[in-house]
Amino acid sequence: MTVSISKPAQPGPSPLASGNELPVAQAQSAMAAALTLVVDSETVTLPQALGRVLHQDLISPINVPAHDNSAMDGYAFAGASLQPGVETVLQALPHTVFAGAPYLGAVPAGHCLRIMTGAVMPAGLDTVVPIELCRVNDNTVSVAADVLKSGENRRKAGEDLAQGSAALAAGHWLRPADLGLAASLGFAQLTVRRRLRVALFSTGDELRSPGEPLEPGCIYDSNRFSLLGALARLGVVVTDLGLVPDNEAALQAAFNTAVDQCDAVITSGGVSMGDADYTRQMLAQMGDVAFWKVAMRPGRPFAFGTLRSARGNTATLFALPGNPVAALVTFYALAQPALRLMAGAAPQPQPVLRARSVAAIRKRPGRTEYQRGRVTQGEDGQWHVALTGAQGAGILRSMSQANALVVLGHDQGSVAAGDAVEVWLFDGLV
Ligand code: AMP
Ligand code: MG
Repeated sequence: MTVSISKPAQPGPSPLASGNELPVAQAQSAMAAALTLVVDSETVTLPQALGRVLHQDLISPINVPAHDNSAMDGYAFAGASLQPGVETVLQALPHTVFAGAPYLGAVPAGHCLRIMTGAVMPAGLDTVVPIELCRVNDNTVSVAADVLKSGENRRKAGEDLAQGSAALAAGHWLRPADLGLAASLGFAQLTVRRRLRVALFSTGDELRSPGEPLEPGCIYDSNRFSLLGALARLGVVVTDLGLVPDNEAALQAAFNTAVDQCDAVITSGGVSMGDADYTRQMLAQMGDVAFWKVAMRPGRPFAFGTLRSARGNTATLFALPGNPVAALVTFYALAQPALRLMAGAAPQPQPVLRARSVAAIRKRPGRTEYQRGRVTQGEDGQWHVALTGAQGAGILRSMSQANALVVLGHDQGSVAAGDAVEVWLFDGLV
């Protein structure tokens, strides 16, 4: 079950008022305002929670660390015995405090105890002198003048996380360290949003599936496989509806199935000017769909909106252009951020790296350009980026050779060789 948070985007005049091309940022905010978010949740084990969206704030039931403890191997003592400019001489009790085995006895004034990293600080002691900073002679431990301050080398209870505070916020996309953090608080399970369900199909009479013979004039459907990969990385549940020919009955059947089964529908092809009138009519009967000319390159034709099936279910449509690079770029720039929001994730800007362009790049202000690039680290330690050959919207090879997109902003003009540009790296650390 899903709940609508606002009215669907209308193909009305507002977003297009400033010209007939819609800036990327406006397309993104118009979409964000019209999305339907997943609200259902489910409880899963920690390993299953990786890549899922946390449903509610995760409140820490304990202090982390739970007790004051030693940050070093050394001797624990009361910092009050330290005097400025004076050596401190302590008597060692015949006991070592290990992690997991707290010392419950009393420690008289002027005494100390051998302690290991992570061991609970005995009552009344607040300072640890590391083993390498003291001199040990029989039962006497000497700390030279001014090598240590009171309270040093002690981790305080609750210093990482206070009991009752939020360890993780609702909407957090769970990464490996988060699973470790949840485990450290004793959680064996987490409540996460159910996965977003996304239907995918390609449109075009000329398309054939890989593995089939290629008749004259036909091409293989590549978009479905690029997009299946991109959706797999997002962690959504995909319904692959295959290839749909350019005819109304087939399209309508595919859309109905998609809307009945999924929260979002992603298509490629069929929204460029040649196809638009016929697709537009069909989609107009099925819901509120806006056909945008987004001020971006590649990837101008793009349709977004809410579709309603014959059975009355609704889903959000992202109709991507057919050209293989344009399909992927519009997916990353427009559809992916929206799908993350639909999945319940808190909004997050795409992290960018600034790299020096090895060559000049021609660009005119008034649209966002996404060029395929290879980022490498130069001998000077700086990041450099070179475009990967011809940038035509259909040239998938240059996308495959790239490891990043060079993103030239809406207002930006041409770039000179050596200028810093923003890039989106394909691969991240976690
Ligand atoms: P369209 O947006 O349907 O006009 O398609 C634009 C261009 O992209 C045409 O050359 C199509 O043949 C090509 N194209 C459309 N869909 C796909 C696909 N799924 N895989 C590869 N190329 C495609
Ligand atoms: Mg087509």
